[in-house]
Amino acid sequence: MQITLFEKIINKEIPADILYEDDLSIVIKDINPQAPTHLLIIPKKVIPKLSDAIEEDKQLLGHLMLVAGKMAEKLDLDDTFRLVVNNGAKAGQSVFHLHLHLLSGRSLNWPPG
Ligand code: AMP
Repeated sequence: MQITLFEKIINKEIPADILYEDDLSIVIKDINPQAPTHLLIIPKKVIPKLSDAIEEDKQLLGHLMLVAGKMAEKLDLDDTFRLVVNNGAKAGQSVFHLHLHLLSGRSLNWPPG
């Protein structure tokens, strides 16, 4: 399997603005932010897309959500943010290494389009 862009960031082979890291995950700033705060919460395990996750990933997926909440608290986002997972190219996924987008700092419309 081809090494993903995010694996290269996790392995520090290419630079990124890393805001948080633990054994299971890394949080970076999105290079092309769609909101004043736009973070990517990325598992170190390579799961190409959410629909590829399996039962044994249950704890890891929960961990990513908790990291998102902790980042929102750490960055003082006023308890106001949106999490997005693009699953598949037709849904806008461009990097096939699962990640959560955390968006905040502007009004976020619904439906998202
Ligand atoms: P998605 O389109 O859901 O797969 O999201 C991939 C995200 O990765 C996009 O929002 C890109 O702006 C972002 N991205 C691509 N390359 C980098 C990079 N080198 N560092 C940080 N974010 C990146």
